[in-house]
Amino acid sequence: MRTAIYPGSFDPLTNGHLDIIQRAAKLFDRVIVAVAQNEGKKPLFSLKDRLSLVQQSLGEFPNVQADSFDTLLVDYAAAQEGQAIIRGLRAVSDFEFEFQLALMNRKLNGSVETIFMMPRETYTFLSSRIVKEIARLGGNVDGFVPPHVRAALSRKFGRAKGKS
Ligand code: ADP
Repeated sequence: MRTAIYPGSFDPLTNGHLDIIQRAAKLFDRVIVAVAQNEGKKPLFSLKDRLSLVQQSLGEFPNVQADSFDTLLVDYAAAQEGQAIIRGLRAVSDFEFEFQLALMNRKLNGSVETIFMMPRETYTFLSSRIVKEIARLGGNVDGFVPPHVRAALSRKFGRAKGKS
């Protein structure tokens, strides 16, 4: 049984995250989307909401589940008997931080491998931060996030537009 952990803030989940989830689900028997507490990052959505938005997106992936964690990532991965940590790479700008994180995680636990995956090109410019900014300013986030995430953003900001 090959298990991969896909960790992140998911504040909120975007179609870029879903693209990576879909790719990871094809490679591993089990994928756990692990939502990090990350209070230090002052998330827009609570941990409970971020987890619920991920959970609502996983219907079409029977081997993918969602969970939250607030420990060291490598400890969480080991507790789940995970062999790999999945991270998405969008551009060179992601690389330096991700490289540092991967090597530190390897130092902390050499038996968990980090695997980088690239989304399709149309999602390389997409981030949770940019989606929140568009929604906050009343822009249309269709095509960037699933409909239930768009609805959650509308509830947060009151006026995020959609096509429907
Ligand atoms: P974190 O706070 O851990 O960076 P994020 O939720 O922002 O959490 O991202 C989780 C992971 O998903 C990271 O590896 C990030 O690079 C990746 N990711 C985020 N957006 C995209 C995207 N549009 N395409 C591919 N990977 C992405």
